Amino acid sequence: FELERLGVHESVDQVFPSAELSAYLSDLPVDVVGDEAVPDCDAVVTLEHREAFLEVGWVHSVQAGVDRFPFEEFESNDVVLTNSTGIHDRTVGETVAGYLLAFSRRLHEHVANGTERRWDQPAWDDAFTLPGTSACVVGTGTLGSGVADVLGALGVSVTGVRRSGDPVPGFEEVYANDDLLEAVADVEFVIVTLPLTDETHHLIDADVFEAMDEEARFVNVGRGPVVDQDALTDALESGSIAGAALDVFETEPLPEESPLWGMDEVIVTPHCAAFTEDYFRDTGDIVRENVDRLESGEAFHNRVV
Ligand code: NDP
Repeated sequence: FELERLGVHESVDQVFPSAELSAYLSDLPVDVVGDEAVPDCDAVVTLEHREAFLEVGWVHSVQAGVDRFPFEEFESNDVVLTNSTGIHDRTVGETVAGYLLAFSRRLHEHVANGTERRWDQPAWDDAFTLPGTSACVVGTGTLGSGVADVLGALGVSVTGVRRSGDPVPGFEEVYANDDLLEAVADVEFVIVTLPLTDETHHLIDADVFEAMDEEARFVNVGRGPVVDQDALTDALESGSIAGAALDVFETEPLPEESPLWGMDEVIVTPHCAAFTEDYFRDTGDIVRENVDRLESGEAFHNRVV
């Protein structure tokens, strides 16, 4: 297809101002237009899916996760889908480090006490330090590698889980999915950075929480439905794991009545682990790269369909 008009869909505004992205891309050799013109575009940059996008030649997702998009319909309509993987390593890595430091240095407790002006020291042996602890990161892609990098710098020893079990730089050991239960046993932190696919739906279930140490904490920054949230809630309520930090949920926003809100050792963040003031530039650079590649007839970067 000929790329003359590239539209930026209004759903992008849910993660950063779409106008910033349009301005950042304004020097491209194509017309970059806002939402009102999307129906007449050859390509679109978006957060959400719309039926109308099946008419364009190329759709770029501003998120790394593309579970919102109907792959088969894209394929049958000859629509290329690209995503924004490759940019969230440092942001998500630092967010996860923040969760672990909150647990080890009890920061979430102090913040909670502060909202009630309460001067309340933790028990002398509640706090600990990270060197010497270990983490198992399930998913060793961009997010997983970023997490391994930042946690490694904090002295945490990091292992990983991926389908093949092949080694990945930054991970001391990598397990195959078949050995998931072995991989999550005997670590202080289990951290999920997986995409949502048919294969990963509820991959983290009651058996995984059962296999974890009672003192271990669980982190999910991948996608909510990768985790059986009822099994997680049960594990937290029964004390079979010690706590959790969660950025993604089976239903978002997390409903007000969810028991997860009320738990002392559960940190809830509203699907923002990858947020940064640079988000539109990082995403824009992938779009720019692909416009260049389209012009020169090269294959798309980050092509999913
Ligand atoms: P990548 O494609 O770089 O990495 C995905 C990783 O998951 C790969 O290491 C892959 O390894 C592994 N994987 C895929 N399927 C399976 C499976 N069935 N079992 C085990 N491992 C599997 O993606 P990113 O790291 O950039 O992003 C990962 C996901 O994180 C996104 O899809 C998105 O849903 C989510 N995300 C969440 C954010 C947030 O704000 N909380 C921000 C950005 C992303 P292998 O192929 O070797 O199995």
